[in-house]
Amino acid sequence: MPRKLRVSVDYDKCTGVGACEQVCPEVFFMNDEGLPDVLEEEPHATLWAAALRADEACPEEAVILEWVEE
Ligand code: SF4
Repeated sequence: MPRKLRVSVDYDKCTGVGACEQVCPEVFFMNDEGLPDVLEEEPHATLWAAALRADEACPEEAVILEWVEE
């Protein structure tokens, strides 16, 4: 069954450290408020590995990754 990755941020947990953007700037962009915007909510498969690294790099466990069946 094909699946896709859905990316979001729990802004209640996020402290704006920015590790997500450093690891995966294609998906995360630190905005003027110092919080990460999600540029690609359903990133292409070529970005999945970087998105997973961003999840691991986030010190607050604020990156939310969900696998969705297509
Ligand atoms: S690494 Fe985590 S805590 Fe830091 S800005 Fe990204 S989502 Fe927020």
